[in-house]
Amino acid sequence: MSDLPEHDETLATRAGRNPPENHGVVNPPVYRASTILFPTMESFESRVADRWQPGKVVYGLFGTPTTFALEEAMTTLEGGYGCVVLPSGMAAVAMAILAFVRSGDHLLMVDAAYEPTRMFCDDTLTGLGVETTYYDPLIGEGIAALIRPNTRVVYLESPGSLTFEVQDVPAIARAAHARGLKVLMDNTWATPLYFKPFEHGVDVCIHAGTKYISGHSDIMSGLITMTEPCYQPVRRTVFGFGQCAGPDDTYTVLRGLRTLPTRLKQQSLQALKVARWLKDRPEVGRVLHPALPDCPGHDLWRRDYLGASSLFGFTLRSNDRSAVADFLDGMRLFGIGASWGGFESLLIPAYPGQLRTATAWPDDEFLIRIHVGLEHTDDLIADLEQGFKRIGKLGSE
Ligand SMILES: *Cc1c(COP(=O)(O)O)cnc(C)c1O
Repeated sequence: MSDLPEHDETLATRAGRNPPENHGVVNPPVYRASTILFPTMESFESRVADRWQPGKVVYGLFGTPTTFALEEAMTTLEGGYGCVVLPSGMAAVAMAILAFVRSGDHLLMVDAAYEPTRMFCDDTLTGLGVETTYYDPLIGEGIAALIRPNTRVVYLESPGSLTFEVQDVPAIARAAHARGLKVLMDNTWATPLYFKPFEHGVDVCIHAGTKYISGHSDIMSGLITMTEPCYQPVRRTVFGFGQCAGPDDTYTVLRGLRTLPTRLKQQSLQALKVARWLKDRPEVGRVLHPALPDCPGHDLWRRDYLGASSLFGFTLRSNDRSAVADFLDGMRLFGIGASWGGFESLLIPAYPGQLRTATAWPDDEFLIRIHVGLEHTDDLIADLEQGFKRIGKLGSE
């Protein structure tokens, strides 16, 4: 790997494939496997130790060369010692946490977390005897005051994928490491391209490969990358729970990764253009885009991030539900749908105030979360403009 050029665009096209080993075929093949045959008794017996090592073909559950190709590509782009591939982003969230907490332990979870992550803490972890305390996304080094003797993990999601506060990852990581905690972070928004977690003190990094990495709204995928000390605990937990991603899905995620830098660059530019346009609209309150100054933690984004993806939020100066419905329902190009990171633009209504316990949400207006896809921005802006006209009409009736 050491002779590879260093830019992410190049790495994304090269990492995890080796055509000379594969008859010159550009992409790695899809290996389907459960049974693996061993030539001798001795090699069969050595598989037990090998299954905890990266890149060893020992049994279908532990991955095939298709899996290892994606794992290698992820660690090349993101850094860290190793990666495991999971069947969904939520599986990645759950497995990463379960690797480091036991009954009687305590976890610090960011108040802006992805809602199913919160549900996992409130339902599953509570049931297992693990207590969660939610903390202000903007707490920074103040996290130290929340650490208890039984706290094992600080979990970050930066920016929050609904409310977009950017966290002070290095300050939180320093405070956590001073007390021996593990630092877990959901990096789905930034992707391995726009935030390098291991340069900022993260131990375990979680991605929904479902989003930008696969990029075409046709696959569920999760990925965990981690430092060397965290590799064994995570890998043992993942396989202890029998988690394994299918070979076709894994291949498809790797194919998406090849074009991630280009898609993201284009979507990032387009999102910023749409965000700036929204900021000037009288119908819009706050625009929560980490690259714009209104976004809490914007300075941290400037300090630590290499770019902004195309998911952001804005508040509407209306809490009239029927006006908001009229805005959303009449869209020609924007779909109403969860998930994001594909080529198509999306809008969803959100109510962050209902999802928080540690911090109050300042707006009682509707928050609209917007995902800007690859359509032409003029067409997207025209669609939004028509939407605002529909709100205006209702307001004046
Ligand atoms: C979507 C998402 C997940 C979960 O991913 P799935 O593949 O949908 O299970 C986790 N974290 C964040 C921030 C997400 O947006």
